Amino acid sequence: MEIFTCKYENNENEAIIEFCVNQTCQKSSQYCYKCLMTMHSDHHDDCIRFKNLTDLINEYISFQGQIIQQSNEISIKQAIRFIQRSKEWKTIFPLQKI
Ligand SMILES: [Zn+2]
Ligand SMILES: [Zn+2]
Repeated sequence: MEIFTCKYENNENEAIIEFCVNQTCQKSSQYCYKCLMTMHSDHHDDCIRFKNLTDLINEYISFQGQIIQQSNEISIKQAIRFIQRSKEWKTIFPLQKI
């Protein structure tokens, strides 16, 4: 997987640590720890740790009975939309324990 860095000004060299899947959030869905504190702290329940995302996608795809191989072609943006469509992802993956 490619290396992701934060898109926000002054954070460009910060590594992405989480993804936001909150559907009403207007902020960047990929962000570093600095953005986490300032932009997504009020809906942190809707955030997924970067290191968990690949596992999450793979498990979700297999849970859905789809072809696991598909996950190799799935982009992060697709993955986020994919997870957003699944209202039950939190119950399937109660992994966000901060
Ligand atoms: Zn940032
Ligand atoms: Zn957010």
